[in-house]
Amino acid sequence: MIYLDHNATTPLDSRVLEAMMPYLTKRWGNPSSPYSFGNQAKIATEKARESVAGHFGCKPEEIVFTSCGTESDNLAVRGVASALLHRGNHIVTTAIEHHAILNTCKALEAEGFRITYLPVGSDGAARIEDVEKNLCSETVLITIMHANNETGVIQPVEEIAALAKNRAILLHTDAVQTAGKMPHKLCGLGADLISISGHKFYGPKGTAALYVREGTPLDPLLTGGPHERGHRAGTENVAGIVGLSHALDLAAESAESEYSRLRHLRDKFEDEIRSVLPGVRINGASAPRVPNTSSISFDSVDGESIVFSLDLRGIYISTGSACSTGDPEPSHVLLAMGLSSKEAQGSIRISFGKDNREEDIRAVVEALKNTVHRLRGISSIESGPQL
Ligand code: PLP
Repeated sequence: MIYLDHNATTPLDSRVLEAMMPYLTKRWGNPSSPYSFGNQAKIATEKARESVAGHFGCKPEEIVFTSCGTESDNLAVRGVASALLHRGNHIVTTAIEHHAILNTCKALEAEGFRITYLPVGSDGAARIEDVEKNLCSETVLITIMHANNETGVIQPVEEIAALAKNRAILLHTDAVQTAGKMPHKLCGLGADLISISGHKFYGPKGTAALYVREGTPLDPLLTGGPHERGHRAGTENVAGIVGLSHALDLAAESAESEYSRLRHLRDKFEDEIRSVLPGVRINGASAPRVPNTSSISFDSVDGESIVFSLDLRGIYISTGSACSTGDPEPSHVLLAMGLSSKEAQGSIRISFGKDNREEDIRAVVEALKNTVHRLRGISSIESGPQL
């Protein structure tokens, strides 16, 4: 099989599993227990917190472990909205966020909050001017993703952070698609809250973290015990936390070299696909992108048919977000970039990962060439002669 959908999820690194095993088998105590057996789990959790904090460039107390990127996003947005309701009820976000943010904002809208969904340019990036002109005295939070999961386009988070700081508005960034992929410390972005998710960088599913800058007002989503300094009740997933931390260590070790290697693979793939097929457009190609992601639109073909056809050859790609699979609507991200419904529906996403090599590029280009030729032949028969 050739797996090219690393933005949906990544395989668990065997070294990560090895680091987790003791906490699944021998040291399975509850970190909140008062005796030494529980304390072993507590020590492991706090060691992991320290290590994760090192990768963020923050204090260990500023890391909250959660169960998934979706929970981190929900905690950030709902937590701030609730804690700052006395100050204002306006939140600024973008039209291209992951549904973990978009649907949370929609739910808050139904509860009476005012949400501004900023547009993006045809390059897939939000404009700082648009952010600025939509801020008002009621704005309590800006939430903007670091890199888009469908196009890989990086958003101007640092500039927005400066703007937000000047106006004393909190900033959250969903860095689920950049954590472990960029050789920088995430706190350098200047956001007050940052979400990451373990299964996007060869860690276990069901493990994630939220960076919460010290002093940030945040109400919890879950009521219960005083875990995670009151930010997230519930017994910690010790093995998962150890796994997430180890996966981040491994990602950091190879971040620089993987960044260039993946960018080379991605660029080679894009050059080759453009050279073998007409009517191909790379979405977001003119903006800075994460190195592993390619969003491609093909004229006169349905992206879903391409995905199914490649599946039969053992090549796994997607039409966009894994969370939108089965959704007949065209991608909200591509529509926001100005693509027509037809263009958006003719799009696929390829996201490379650590096990991909140049031979995978040759195989996927060949498979795409044959598939698109065949599907274009079928669609021209279906649409009848051009009169
Ligand atoms: N945010 C972004 C940008 C994502 O790509 C994803 C997952 O695809 C999520 C949030 C949700 O993360 P999780 O699957 O851990 O809930």
